Amino acid sequence: MSRFWSQRVHQLTPYVPGEQPKVDNLIKLNTNESPYPPSPKVLEAISAQVNDKLRLYPDPNSDALKQSLAHYYQLETNQVFVGNGSDEVLAHIFMGLLKQDKPILFPDITYSFYPVYCGLYDVEYQTVPLNEEFAIQPADYQIDNGGIIFPNPNAPTGRLLPLQAIEQILQGNPNSVVVVDEAYIDFGGESAAQLIHRYPNLLVVQTFSKSRALAGLRVGFALGHPDLIEALERVKNSFNSYPLDRLAVAGAVAAMEDESYFEASCDKIIATRNRLTEFLQQQGFQVIPSAANFVFASHPDKAAADIAQALRERAIIVRYFNKPRIDEYLRITIGTDAETDALCQALMEIL
Ligand code: PMP
Repeated sequence: MSRFWSQRVHQLTPYVPGEQPKVDNLIKLNTNESPYPPSPKVLEAISAQVNDKLRLYPDPNSDALKQSLAHYYQLETNQVFVGNGSDEVLAHIFMGLLKQDKPILFPDITYSFYPVYCGLYDVEYQTVPLNEEFAIQPADYQIDNGGIIFPNPNAPTGRLLPLQAIEQILQGNPNSVVVVDEAYIDFGGESAAQLIHRYPNLLVVQTFSKSRALAGLRVGFALGHPDLIEALERVKNSFNSYPLDRLAVAGAVAAMEDESYFEASCDKIIATRNRLTEFLQQQGFQVIPSAANFVFASHPDKAAADIAQALRERAIIVRYFNKPRIDEYLRITIGTDAETDALCQALMEIL
């Protein structure tokens, strides 16, 4: 608190990111990063830039990356927006597309950055309860609104909403922008990007932080009708002309080009998720079916906070939540085989 702060800053309630420990000897299963390194081609592409090009500004439009994404998703480059992590892309969306004069809608249990952006950009919102099984119910989004946003799969539950249900929401809200935040879509879901040519109100957001193992590089993007993308470009050019640096563009393009590496990493993470789910169920956990690179699980006899604390004493970090309805759940990122073995061993000692 300071008398030099604006009223605006006094009123903000910032997002608190998951812990990023400063020591290396922990098994870090708390912020849904990939347990595997990025493609070796990413490192080659970044090194080439470091040697030669860092004294020059990057391309303000990140055209090389837009072309690569447009090609992959069979879209035009004016249907692609890129930003410094999907958090920044989301910030531009709240600023430029969701700031209407009616409340926007998102699930009551979801990515906790959404209400933070609402506070920053003065966006009114209303939360829509998930059902008993933590599923989004499309019929509940049939209320007057200034826009809709939800992750698919949802976070922190990992539950996937089928494309059919997304279409129901789109059809029921032809005058609202519907944002599908697909941070975790590559771990078993089907992207709504294929619906873009039929729904001018659909915006799909994705990130390189999870399935492409580049959380440290900060690259995210949005796909949608050129009108929606143009709004985001206007916000971006009023904020930061060069959000993506040269290393980020080169690394992200190389990651897109190494499709076989990408597919093999996703397959491996899905296989490990299935193995961990089975183990947790054998130990008595209730596990929400996950289409993400994490599982969301609760134990009938032991409090989530106590399990998390006991794991921490064994150098394993997972997430738990102090929020109604989910305070008995742990969210565990899928690690390598060795990390998963260590987790299973620790849980057997604790339970
Ligand atoms: N959306 C969701 C649902 C997330 O969980 C995250 C990661 N915390 C993000 C967006 C942001 O990811 P990034 O900024 O690393 O692209």
